[in-house]
Amino acid sequence: MPPTPLAYFGGKFLPVTEAKVGLMTHALHYGTAVFEGIRGNWNEDEAKVFIFRPREHYVRFLDGAKILRMNLPVTADDLTRLTVELVERGDYKGDLYIRPLAFKSSQLVANLKLHEIDDDFGIIAVPFGAYLDSSVLRCVTSSWRRMSETMIPPRVKISGLYVNSILAKTDAVLAGFDEAILLNEEGFVSEGSGENLFIVKNGEIITPPLYNGILPGITRDTAIELARRELGLTVTERSIGRAELYLADELFLTGTAAHITPVGELDVRKIGSGGVGPVSKQLQDLYFNVIRGKVPKYRHWCVTAVPAALAPK
Ligand code: PMP
Repeated sequence: MPPTPLAYFGGKFLPVTEAKVGLMTHALHYGTAVFEGIRGNWNEDEAKVFIFRPREHYVRFLDGAKILRMNLPVTADDLTRLTVELVERGDYKGDLYIRPLAFKSSQLVANLKLHEIDDDFGIIAVPFGAYLDSSVLRCVTSSWRRMSETMIPPRVKISGLYVNSILAKTDAVLAGFDEAILLNEEGFVSEGSGENLFIVKNGEIITPPLYNGILPGITRDTAIELARRELGLTVTERSIGRAELYLADELFLTGTAAHITPVGELDVRKIGSGGVGPVSKQLQDLYFNVIRGKVPKYRHWCVTAVPAALAPK
């Protein structure tokens, strides 16, 4: 039996099965929580977990907390330090998913406010492999529309917002597809249920801008940086119409859980060759090395954690 994953909660490290909240918790009723998804990537040669861009994740996490009027007693650096300690104490020797969660913790019913309510937070680290089931995806355009900034801000990971993603993903999977692509209210392409979206057309990379209802993804930012600096390609952020996806040479999704994953088919139409396109492949290969700390130039994006059992005594 693998050991129970570890959590940081209530100011201490404990097995995740002991980190519990009550039935009257505000966040459980109303989705008044904010979360992050961070990956820890095991590097066998160095026997360390490389936590990828945790600071950027925690800046976005604290932005979400601010929108929910939370007063968390920690900075992005504090949260990064706690995460390293959690991974080290958990003695993980493999790929991980790290899930920070901040939530409205008061035990109340019928209270539709954000103020005068207590806040709490925790961090969980669990072993985690592939998120998506295929290496080349079959996607469908969802009949659900992405929430706009005027409803619940999609630029941070507010728990309640994820009902939108979950409706889209569930319908797509039950209809036999791997992932859903959502349009925004105006009909422009926004993103996948848990991934940002890119197309390649005539050697140029194009991705929807932040004002089209997307999450400013950390993998999106990583892919943009790598494409510009290492592949020398032009990356343009502009609104994308639905049919542009059908006519793209390549289409790929990016996300912490999803990595960089090509889409071979959308709405029962083949995209490009239907396989992994050359730009997607180059980016994917580079990205997999970067997130395991194998590219010295980008090692500053990683924070390392040494499993407790391997730490020098
Ligand atoms: N869009 C949505 C809706 C997401 O949930 C995610 C996953 N966090 C992403 C995009 C990708 O963001 P990131 O690369 O920061 O994981």
